[in-house]
Amino acid sequence: MEEKNLEALLEEDRQFIPSEEFHKNALIQSADIYEQGQSLGFWEEQAKQLSWLSPWEKTLEWNPPFAQWFVGGKLNASANCLDRHLQDWHRNKAAIIFEGENGDSQVLTYQDLHREVSKFANVLKANGVNKGDRVTIYLPMIPEAVISMLACARIGAPHSVVFGGFSSEALRDRVIDAQAKAVITSDGSFRRGNTIPLKDNTDIALDGVDCVEHVFVIQRTKQTVQMKEERDLWYHEEMAKASPVCPAEPMDAEDMLFILYTSGTTGKPKGVVHTTGGYMVGVSTTHRWVFDLKEEDVYWCTADVGWITGHSYIVYGPLANGATVLMYEGSPDYPNRDRFWEIVEKYKVTILYTAPTAIRTFMKWGPQYPQSRDLSSLRLLGSVGEPINPEAWMWYYKYIGGERCPIVDTWWQTETGMIMMTPLPGITSLKPGSCTVPFPGVRIEVVDSAGHPVPKGGGGYLAIKEPWPAMLRNIYGDPARFERTYFGNWPGVYFPGDGAKWDKDGYFWILGRVDDVINVSGHRIGTMEVESALVDHPSVAEAAVIGKNHEVKGQALACFVTLKEGIEITPDLEDELKKHVAKKIGALARPDDIFFTAELPKTRSGKIMRRLLRDIAEGRAIGDTTTLADASVVNTLKANYQE
Ligand code: ATP
Ligand code: MG
Repeated sequence: MEEKNLEALLEEDRQFIPSEEFHKNALIQSADIYEQGQSLGFWEEQAKQLSWLSPWEKTLEWNPPFAQWFVGGKLNASANCLDRHLQDWHRNKAAIIFEGENGDSQVLTYQDLHREVSKFANVLKANGVNKGDRVTIYLPMIPEAVISMLACARIGAPHSVVFGGFSSEALRDRVIDAQAKAVITSDGSFRRGNTIPLKDNTDIALDGVDCVEHVFVIQRTKQTVQMKEERDLWYHEEMAKASPVCPAEPMDAEDMLFILYTSGTTGKPKGVVHTTGGYMVGVSTTHRWVFDLKEEDVYWCTADVGWITGHSYIVYGPLANGATVLMYEGSPDYPNRDRFWEIVEKYKVTILYTAPTAIRTFMKWGPQYPQSRDLSSLRLLGSVGEPINPEAWMWYYKYIGGERCPIVDTWWQTETGMIMMTPLPGITSLKPGSCTVPFPGVRIEVVDSAGHPVPKGGGGYLAIKEPWPAMLRNIYGDPARFERTYFGNWPGVYFPGDGAKWDKDGYFWILGRVDDVINVSGHRIGTMEVESALVDHPSVAEAAVIGKNHEVKGQALACFVTLKEGIEITPDLEDELKKHVAKKIGALARPDDIFFTAELPKTRSGKIMRRLLRDIAEGRAIGDTTTLADASVVNTLKANYQE
């Protein structure tokens, strides 16, 4: 990397200071915590909040790029999420409140969850799943997904959760890569009134795959499935025979807890390896402080357990903290577009953690849906997955948070395991579109291509300067790719692949992925600021900006824009949007092309895939699409993209 740094174009000067009320009740009320975060003793203190079977001997062993945390310590993740809450009244506290897409609901207390997990752990053991064996989980968002993960953790069998919306092809790749010994799936899953045949998909995926000995099948939709003799077992039949007593396996802090494949926004997914001790310390600490968790909270993270957000902030973080977790099976527009808000009203949700893609969809639909429900129980909002455009932030703040709830914009990755940059809601002043500052104990900088710090006000690359407890330990089976991908730029420094700027107050702003950076006449521009300038226009719901080859400028800006519902495309609108961008961030960012589209190509977790838009704009064959949510979007775009 030897090009010029990223340029910072957009100015955002709105600020939101924590209310006196929120501040005085917050878990973290003093910025001294950042001071404390500067020594390793900080993470030792946090680790003491967990229950360990044997103490660690050394907090950190750092042989770049390989880190070991809490060396020699022994613990079990499932015991930390369950057993230790059974000592007192918490055993009768709701661990999971489940809402099915069709309106069925179920509550599992910590005691219930402990029993189900112990039974399923015994089922796995009885069927030959041993410590160290990998288990692939391919399920809808039902309590059994959590039960399966914790049952694996209980016996020390690393899980690899594959999002239930993935195709059999994607499942097959992941089963083979992990060499899974067992697969846990269901007959089917409910989706917008239809069913998706997960068991059939699994059968296709496993055709000719010989590592898998058993498939455990949970009954959810009751659709007809083929059960393969010897290989396939019904979950409910096995559970009926199982004992509810299963002591948790003592695991080394550095034993693998799970493998999880990244979203595949920029290319082929990577099998990210997380271990037990550091991960549990990282996710429980961040969950408690970022979400200012109180005993009586009803916490709802809308991610799927198939993503890292689901692993860290539906399962391991919240359950380690003894929280009440709401889990919703279905989509936000079934049966109606107010479903999320109906759920918030019904269960009096206090903390809501969702993604910019969802917020932009709600913006597109209009505020009448949240306005028709009582959202007054909410006290804190969160965002994760992509940069949140300042206008989307404002919409979330106003229509969902009632201008009363702080928003924690959390920057992190599958690889980081835990939230890395975020406000602490009781003490951090918020700026719409900024993920603010690194979490205590985390050292992140904005650097230039040589790895030197960029002064405040400048843009460059994000770099993580020190190891952190929940960091990935490897790419499964491919340490060379691990080293090259994350530590190949600057020795011993982790490179997340995102561009960022930091402002005069030291706040961080993600400018977009380094792979997506656009070079216009020698100016390096991140996608985020141009997209945010477009979303700032009252007609625009969502935008994706790419650089397209240009003879004179090197690259020209091509913008794909989705309008809010009810907005007509007029002949003047294109010009108006170009002018709007030029006015907001300068003439150099004036788009060459604006292309209106009803949908943008996204990964199955909802992230915009700009690389596919570049392929379309430059008339190339479309690259890897296995992680694409809806292939028809790309085909329609390709057919319509004309100049
Ligand atoms: P792949 O690495 O396979 O291309 P991916 O990067 O989308 O996929 P994830 O680990 O799910 O896989 O996503 C992490 C990325 O998401 C970050 O690197 C960043 O680009 C983006 N991101 C997540 N949270 C935020 C946030 N709060 N603000 C800005 N960007 C974010
Ligand atoms: Mg990534």
